Amino acid sequence: MHDWLIVGAGFTGAIAAQILAAEHGQRVLVIDQRDHIAGNAHDRRNEDGILYHLYGPHIFHTNSHQVADYLSRFTQWRPYEHRVLAMIKNRLVPVPFNFTSIEMLFDHRKAQMIKDALIARYGMGANTTIMKLRDEPSEMLRELADFVYENVFLGYTIKQWGFGPEQLSSSVTDRVPVRVSYDDRYFQDTFQNMPLHGYTHMFENMLAHPNIHVELQTRWQDMAKDAKFRNILFTGAMDEFCGYELGPLPYRSLSFDIQTYRQPAHQPVAQVNYPNAESFTRITEMFHLTGERHDKTLVMIEYPQAHLPGQTIPYYPIPHAQNEALHKQYEALAAARFPHVHFAGRLADYRYYNMDQAAGRAMSFIRKLS
Ligand SMILES: Cc1cc2nc3c(=O)[nH]c(=O)nc-3n(C[C@H](O)[C@H](O)[C@H](O)COP(=O)(O)OP(=O)(O)OC[C@H]3O[C@@H](n4cnc5c(N)ncnc54)[C@H](O)[C@@H]3O)c2cc1C
Repeated sequence: MHDWLIVGAGFTGAIAAQILAAEHGQRVLVIDQRDHIAGNAHDRRNEDGILYHLYGPHIFHTNSHQVADYLSRFTQWRPYEHRVLAMIKNRLVPVPFNFTSIEMLFDHRKAQMIKDALIARYGMGANTTIMKLRDEPSEMLRELADFVYENVFLGYTIKQWGFGPEQLSSSVTDRVPVRVSYDDRYFQDTFQNMPLHGYTHMFENMLAHPNIHVELQTRWQDMAKDAKFRNILFTGAMDEFCGYELGPLPYRSLSFDIQTYRQPAHQPVAQVNYPNAESFTRITEMFHLTGERHDKTLVMIEYPQAHLPGQTIPYYPIPHAQNEALHKQYEALAAARFPHVHFAGRLADYRYYNMDQAAGRAMSFIRKLS
C-alpha cells in the first residue's frame, strides 16, 4: 500500500518522491507513461555508445544553492559553460549579442562608437535588453536594438512559435539580452555544470530508495478509475487530466533530426542557431555537453512544429495571456472536482520552467505540505 501516487518521473515527480520517501517516511508509487525515467531530461546512449538527450539539449544552470546542493547528493558534476553562435549574415557570431558580435557585424569605426555608447550608458560588464535600448535617446543604441531584433530575434521567434513576437507575452520580447562586455557565455548563473554521468544516472540514484516504487509505461488514465490513494501529485498536462473539457491548452512541439557523422566534431560550440537561414532553429552537438569524445559525433537538428494533442509531445507552453487564463480555469475546475490531487511541474503549471526551477518548485511543494 502506498501513501502517495506521483504521476510523472521527471524533475518534479522524482524530486517530490525522493523527499517524501527519504525525509517523510512515505511510501511512494511513481508512474510514467514513457518507458524511462527523467522526463524530458532523459538521456541515453545510441548504437555507437554516444550519450545524447532524447528530448533536446538540456543544459543545467542555476543560482539556487539549495537546488545545486540537493542534486549534488545524486550526481557528480562536470564544469560546463554553454556557448551559442548564430548564423547571421553568413557569419557565426556569439549570442547573446556581445562586443565580439558587434565587432563582427559592424565596420570598425561604427563598432567602436556603439561599444563606447553602451559603456557610457550602462558601464562595462553590464547586461541590457533590446527593450531598454529601444527607449534610449541615443539613435545608435536604438539602431542596435533594431538590428538585434531583426537579425537575432525575429526570424528565430517566428520559427520557434509559428507566429510573430507581437502575439507572444511581452515578457519574451522584453528579455532579449545584449551584453556590455565580451562575455560570450550563454548563461551567467553561479552554478553551471552538467551531471557527470548524465541525467538518467542522476535520476536512478534519486529514485533508488526502498520506499519508492516506479512503474513505467503506465498512464494515469489507465489506472485513475481504480486508484485509491490518499495523496496524488500529477505532473502532466492539466487539459489532458481534465479530459480537455475546456478545450486544449496550446503547446508548441518539436521534431529532431538526429545525425551521426564519421568525424570527431561538427561545429565549434554546442549550439549554433539559425535565426533566418534554414527551416530548423538550431543544431546542437552533444559531445560539447557531455564531455565524451568519440570518433563519431552526434548532432540534433531541431524543427519546431505545431502540437497535435495525442500525436505530438507538448514541449513548450505558449506564453500568452489568453492561454494563461485558460490554464487558470483548468486549475479551478481541477480544484473543485479533484480536491485530493495536487498539481505541479512544467506541464501542470503551464509554465516554462528550467530544470532548476522545476526542482525548486518540487522542493517548495513538499515544504508547503509539511
Ligand atoms: C527541448 C527542450 C529543451 C530544454 N532545455 C533545457 C535546458 O537546457 N535547461 C533547463 O534547465 N531546462 C531545459 N528544459 C526544461 C526541462 O525539460 C524542464 O524544466 C523539466 O523537464 C521539467 O520537469 P517536469 O518533471 O516538470 O516535466 P517533464 O520532464 O515533462 O516530466 C513529466 C513526466 O510526466 C509524464 N506524464 C505526463 N502525463 C502523464 C500521464 N497522463 N500518465 C503518466 N505519465 C505522464 C511524462 O511522460 C513525463 O515523463 C528544456 C525543455 C525542452 C522541451
